[in-house]
Amino acid sequence: MDPDRVLEGLDPEQRDAARSVRGPVCILAGAGTGKTRAITHRIAYAVASGVVTEHQVLAVTFTTRAAGEMRGRLRDLGAPRVQARTFHAAALRQLSYFWPQVVGGPEPTLIDSKLQVVGRAAHSCAIQLDRTGLRDLASEIEWAKVTQVRPSDYEKAVVKAGRTAPMAAHEVARVYEAYEEMRRDRNLLDFESLLELTAAMITEHPAVAQRVRDQYRYFVVDEFQDVNPLQKLLLDAWLGDRDDVCVVGDPSQTIYSFAGATPSFLTRFSAGYPHATVVRLVRDYRSTPQVVRVANGALRHARGPAAEHRIELTAQRPDGPDPSFSEYEDEPAEATSVARKIAALIDSGTSAREIAVLFRTNSQSAAYEQALADNGVPFTVRGATRFFERPEIKQAVHTLRGARHGNENEPLATLVRHILTPLGLTEAAPEGREARERWESLAALAQLAEDVAAERPGATMGDFAAELDARVATEHAPEFEGVTLASLHAAKGLEWDAVFLVGLTEGMLPIIYAESDEQVEEERRLFYVGVTRAREYLALSWALARSPGGRKSRKPSRFLDGLRPASPALASDRSERRRQGKVVRCRICGNSLTEAAERKLTRCLDCPADYDEELLERLKAWRSETAREQNVPAFVIFTDATLRAVAEHV
Ligand code: ATP
Ligand code: MG
Repeated sequence: MDPDRVLEGLDPEQRDAARSVRGPVCILAGAGTGKTRAITHRIAYAVASGVVTEHQVLAVTFTTRAAGEMRGRLRDLGAPRVQARTFHAAALRQLSYFWPQVVGGPEPTLIDSKLQVVGRAAHSCAIQLDRTGLRDLASEIEWAKVTQVRPSDYEKAVVKAGRTAPMAAHEVARVYEAYEEMRRDRNLLDFESLLELTAAMITEHPAVAQRVRDQYRYFVVDEFQDVNPLQKLLLDAWLGDRDDVCVVGDPSQTIYSFAGATPSFLTRFSAGYPHATVVRLVRDYRSTPQVVRVANGALRHARGPAAEHRIELTAQRPDGPDPSFSEYEDEPAEATSVARKIAALIDSGTSAREIAVLFRTNSQSAAYEQALADNGVPFTVRGATRFFERPEIKQAVHTLRGARHGNENEPLATLVRHILTPLGLTEAAPEGREARERWESLAALAQLAEDVAAERPGATMGDFAAELDARVATEHAPEFEGVTLASLHAAKGLEWDAVFLVGLTEGMLPIIYAESDEQVEEERRLFYVGVTRAREYLALSWALARSPGGRKSRKPSRFLDGLRPASPALASDRSERRRQGKVVRCRICGNSLTEAAERKLTRCLDCPADYDEELLERLKAWRSETAREQNVPAFVIFTDATLRAVAEHV
C-alpha cells in the first residue's frame, strides 16, 4: 500500500507518531484519543515504506480480543502478516519453540488458574481456607511473582510495599514456597513463570537471544500503563540494546496496580530513553461531548501520580443523548430495567454487538444474564474460558475439520449449521446457564461461517477449516452477535455504541476492600475506563437494596458525586418515561416532570410560575453555560432558591 494512504484518517499528532518510524516513541494520551489507531497505522506505515518487513514486527496488546482487532485493522491497511499478540501468547510461542533445544524433556503444562495448586499447597501447610480466602492468597502469590519477590523475601516486601497481606505474612510466604515446589514437581507453568522463563531463556542463552532478536526488530506495546515488572523484563530481553520500541498508554487507565503493574514504566519512559519522541493526543474521537463531559468529570478529583499526567479530553463527535443516571429499589429491578432498555435499543436499530453491560465483579453478571434471557436478548459473557479452549468448541472444530467436503451445492453457512446441530446448535437458545453458554459458542462458530461466506462468496468447507486453524493459532475468537457482559477490567481498550455501567454503589465501586487512598484511586480509574467505553449512549445505574423488600442500605458510588442529578429518583423516572416516550421537562429548571406529566403541567410544582418567555430563555442559556463550565450534565437540577437567585441577575 502507498505509505501516504496509510496516513489518511489520522490527525496531525497521530501522523507525527505514525511517521516517527525509528527509535523510541511514547504516546501518552487519554481514552478514545486514537492511541491504538495511531500505533496500528504506524506499523502499517513502517511496513509500507520499507523500514521493516511484516515478520519483523511484534505488536503486544493486552487481551486476545484487542490482538484480534489489531490484526483486523492491519489487514485492512495492507499488513496482514504482522504478529499482534498478548505478552503471554508471544512468550508461549517462543518458549515452545526453543524448549526442545534449550531445556529438553517434556514441556511444562500451562495452567490458567492457580487455585487448585494453591489449595493443595495451603493444605500441606495445614492452612484451611474457603474459596474467597484461596482466591485472595492466589492473587497475593501472583503479585509476589509479578514483582519478583521470592518466598524468602516476601515478609519484608509486603511491609515495604505497604500492602495488607490476606493472612499473616509468614503464612503467605510458607504457602508461596510450597506452591512453587509443587508447581515445579508437577511440571506446571503459571503465567508469571511463563514470562520469567522466556525472558531467562533469552538472556541466558546468547544463541536464543540472537535468533529472537534477528526475527523481531520492531516492537509496539499498547496499554503500557498496565505493564508489570515481569512483562517489562521480557520486553527488555527482546530488545537487548536496541531501541526500536513504541509504547502507548494512559496513566489514568492504570487498573492493574493491585496485581503489580505500574504506570511509571510509561510515565518515566523518557528517563530511560532521553531521545524518545513523545506524542500527546487530546482529541477524543470515540465519544459524544456528553460522554466526554462525564469522563472528564470522573477524573476531576483524581489524586496520585497517575493524575499528574492527565489532560482533559476534547470531544470531536457531534452531540448525542444525555447520559442517564438511574436509581432502583433493588438489584433485580435494576437488572430488569437495564434489560428492557437494551431490548428497546435493539428494537430501535442498535446492533446487540454494539451494546455492553459493565460491572465491577463477575458475580454481578448472573442477574443480567437472567434478565437479558427473560427479555429474549442474546448476550455473551467476556473473560470466561478462552474461546478455543472451551470443550464444545474443541469438539466442534474437530468435527468440522473431519467434515473439511459435503454436498458441494450446499452453501457453507448452511453446511456448518447442519454439522453443528447434533452438537447442540438448536434453532433457539436453550434454558439454563451451561446449555446456553454452549449454544452461544456454537452459534458464534455458525456466525463465523456466515461472515466467511459473505466475505468470500463461494468459500468452501476447506476455506472455513483454514480460517479456523488460523484463528486457533492466534486465539482469535469470533464475534458473537449479542450484548457483551463484562467486568470493567475485561473492557479496557474496547468500545461500544451503548454502555450500561451497573451496580454503581459504595462497596461495589469503590469495591469494599479498597481501603487505602491508592486503592480508591484505582477504583476511580476503573470508573473512568467504564465511562469511556461508550460511543454514544451511556447509562449509569445503582440499586439501594440487594433483593426486593431488603434493607435499602446501599449508597450511590462517591464517583457519581458532582455528575449525577441531585434527585436521582426523578432521574430514574425520567429515563423510564423517556423509554415510554412520555418525558416532559420543566420549562424552568429543565428537570423531568413525573406525575406532572400526567397532569399536563409544564413546570415543576417547585418552580416559580411567574417567569416570562424572555427570562426563561436567559435561564436556559445560563443553565447550559454553567453545566458546561462545571462539567456536569445539563440536566443537573438547580433548586428553586438557586433559580430565583439567578433570575435576579441574568
Ligand atoms: P483507549 O484508551 O480506550 O484504548 P485509544 O486511545 O486507543 O482508546 P482508539 O481505540 O484508537 O483510542 O480510538 C477510539 C475511536 O476513535 C476508534 O473508534 C477509532 O477508530 C476512532 N478514531 C481514532 N482516531 C481517529 C481519527 N483521527 N479520525 C476519526 N476517528 C478516529
Ligand atoms: Mg487503545
